[in-house]
Amino acid sequence: MEKSHAAADFHHRLANDLSDLREKGLFKIERVIASPQGATVQSDDGRTLINLCANNYLGLSGDSQLAHAAIRAIEHYGYGMSSVRFICGTQTVHKQLERALADFLGMEDAILYAAAFDANGGLFEPLFDEEDAIISDALNHASIIDGIRLCRAARYRFQHNDMSDLEVQLLAAAGKRHKLIVTDGVFSMDGTIAQLDRICDLADRYGALVMIDESHASGFMGPNGRGTHEHHGVMGRVDIITGTLGKALGGAMGGFTAARREVIETLRQKSRPYLFSNSLAPAIAGASLSVLERLSSSSELRDRLHDNTRYFRAAITELGFTIKPGTHPVVPVMLFDAPLAQRFAQKLYALGVLVSGFFYPVVPMGQARVRVQLSAAHTREQLDSALAACRQAGDELDLLGK
Ligand SMILES: *Cc1c(COP(=O)(O)O)cnc(C)c1O
Repeated sequence: MEKSHAAADFHHRLANDLSDLREKGLFKIERVIASPQGATVQSDDGRTLINLCANNYLGLSGDSQLAHAAIRAIEHYGYGMSSVRFICGTQTVHKQLERALADFLGMEDAILYAAAFDANGGLFEPLFDEEDAIISDALNHASIIDGIRLCRAARYRFQHNDMSDLEVQLLAAAGKRHKLIVTDGVFSMDGTIAQLDRICDLADRYGALVMIDESHASGFMGPNGRGTHEHHGVMGRVDIITGTLGKALGGAMGGFTAARREVIETLRQKSRPYLFSNSLAPAIAGASLSVLERLSSSSELRDRLHDNTRYFRAAITELGFTIKPGTHPVVPVMLFDAPLAQRFAQKLYALGVLVSGFFYPVVPMGQARVRVQLSAAHTREQLDSALAACRQAGDELDLLGK
């Protein structure tokens, strides 16, 4: 086949696949925002929307104090590094941030990545091989699944959040050199908090290590915001923590792994996304450092987040909606039916409230929902307006039995 035909064939196939996605209602449309990320955002058609779908748990994404910390870091350290860490891409601010992250998480050492996706992608392969076993929750994040695929360890999967199945898998992995239990600290679709106390007990009983991904927990879970391990009182019993700087901890981008020094040093030597990808921008490193200082000196932001969460969870239940029970700022409002969830989200959008609807295959069949995410930045008035919109949309769709 000629080159031009070969290329036409290829592009034609992609176009067909794309229209297939559109027909199945699976095509993802990007909403365009013309303002900073915040409790409200301006859409590109000029409307102001109350934003209930960002991972902006502490409200720092659009925070001006944080923007100024980033500007100060740019002024001091410049814009970019044009280097990986081990050639000439390590500044004092990167070392300070790694130290501060390790201290904040209660771990010995930490290493930065360009994203949590990279932290997970580059975690398993350097540390484990075919003599070892990785035992992973069935609903773990895509980056964990990909990272495990890149590693030659034997793979075991336990039913989501199911401690008896975890035990079955630990027994199946008996005889392996190292066994690692891997779980999201908090699962983002349901706001489910992993049962880390029980996981750590099982790890003790079966001689396994424990790794958690704290992307939806670092900065606000636990009495001091250190994460799910603090929430469950198991700090010191978790061996490896990965997480993101792109959610609660400022919301720009960047990821990290925290663990014992031997683990972190091995990753610095061998972890491919770390070795072969550019250093985290100094502005992000400097701003992240100021976030950790702020979180250590005041509980104000997490108190506001948890107040908002409690308020919204109680009020939406009072209106007659069904939510998944819990305490996390991810609040799944259950519609069960996919078209209904879509219509509910569209009505809310028309009423000035931004939420995202999720349906199969992102969540199980029959579990369609709108996911609300609370932020410390939301005011009570904004939450009341959003709740009024939920009531109106719910009435119009006959969701709220009287
Ligand atoms: C968002 C998320 C990631 C990816 O984080 P990035 O820093 O944006 O790459 C990884 N793991 C979990 C559990 C997440 O929720």
